[in-house]
Amino acid sequence: MNAGSPGLDETHDARRRSWVEGASGGEFPLQNLPLGIFSPPGGAPRAGVAIGGSILDLPALREAGLLDGQAERAAAAAQGGTLNAMLALGAAPRRALRRRLFDLLAEGSAARSDVEPLLHPMAGCTLHLPCAIGDYTDFYAGIHHATNVGLLFRPDAPLLPNYKHMPIGYHGRASSVRASGTPVRRPCGQTSPAGAAGPVFGPSARLDYELELGVWIGQGTLPGEPPPIGRAWDHIAGFCLLNDWSARDVQAWEYRPLGPFLAKNFATTVSCWIVTPEALAPFRIAQPARPSGDPSPLPYLHDDADQGGGALAVDLEAWLHTPGLARAGHGPHRLALTSTRHLYWTVAQMVAHHSCGGCDLRPGDLFGSGTISGPDTGSLGCLLEITSGGRTPLTLPDGEQRGFLQDGDEVVLRAVARRDGFVSVGFGECRAAVTGHA
Ligand code: MN
Repeated sequence: MNAGSPGLDETHDARRRSWVEGASGGEFPLQNLPLGIFSPPGGAPRAGVAIGGSILDLPALREAGLLDGQAERAAAAAQGGTLNAMLALGAAPRRALRRRLFDLLAEGSAARSDVEPLLHPMAGCTLHLPCAIGDYTDFYAGIHHATNVGLLFRPDAPLLPNYKHMPIGYHGRASSVRASGTPVRRPCGQTSPAGAAGPVFGPSARLDYELELGVWIGQGTLPGEPPPIGRAWDHIAGFCLLNDWSARDVQAWEYRPLGPFLAKNFATTVSCWIVTPEALAPFRIAQPARPSGDPSPLPYLHDDADQGGGALAVDLEAWLHTPGLARAGHGPHRLALTSTRHLYWTVAQMVAHHSCGGCDLRPGDLFGSGTISGPDTGSLGCLLEITSGGRTPLTLPDGEQRGFLQDGDEVVLRAVARRDGFVSVGFGECRAAVTGHA
């Protein structure tokens, strides 16, 4: 789908429902059909599709002879416990697979009795990273976050002069991207405490999360042949939630002049399902107009269709659960409700900028959007902003306070795309608990 084209078809029809239990009203209705890698109890990792409370086994579906043509080609490429080769095929096979899955899983399907034995209850399955990630890049496209963080360090000039001219980013660490559910060990590192005679080594005392949208690259780009921005969506295979864990005390000491390093390379958590561009087609919106006085992007970052329909309307939430809340009988506490509408740059602009110098993108590469905060206090995407760098701790319903995360704390990110007249599409959770340092 090119930026701006509506891309809507019968798979977005809100009147259609699946025969699978739990599909209607949940995160994984018939209109979603996200892709992932899972293991059934005692089984090897394989490709699957989330539908209601179940996962449909894609290799088994293919072996049963229920796929053909481009849909069969897509499923056949999902070998070896990763989706890289399937995503590399680009949009056409992925769309064909979606249409076939929609028909098989819709109420009234003649194939129900053939498909039903190929479903696994999701609760008994293990979810894995969907791809072998070659490269991971984190952007900084949430302008409220960039402004708030800038204000903490540079009250007179929160945004640096380059911010509105290009999507700022850094190359992150792919080896430590973890699937949702994997605990995160508090990192040790070098910090420079205020008033100390010199730097010290030890566990981070200012561990934070960052609420971000993840972008999975599908069809690769060639070295030295950057795609024009109008073709950027050809290279986007889907979306997830991403928690860019950050050790703020390590970051503050190490970041000058080259930016984040050990403060962020110890762990990044992603939700396991790839929500496709097709599933999000109804939730494409115009990129919000830039405030008057802001510069226009350079031509390689501008596309009329991208400005008209290249942004996403996805509601995002961050939740904190602590041992203290559990002991007091409380559920998780919501830290933020925000939206992908607050991104200053579109994902197409990120793809265009990342590749403009000749850098090739490969199937299974991962982007983070940057922390997504909104304009008000209930919409801040990390504790650094919520607590003003720890100076104004957050009080939880059981009376506990948090400047930053403590051992035992669990952070859960959630996302739902909503639009009147369409069935809401969920992302599945991005969850991890903090454990003590080694
Ligand atoms: Mn980040």
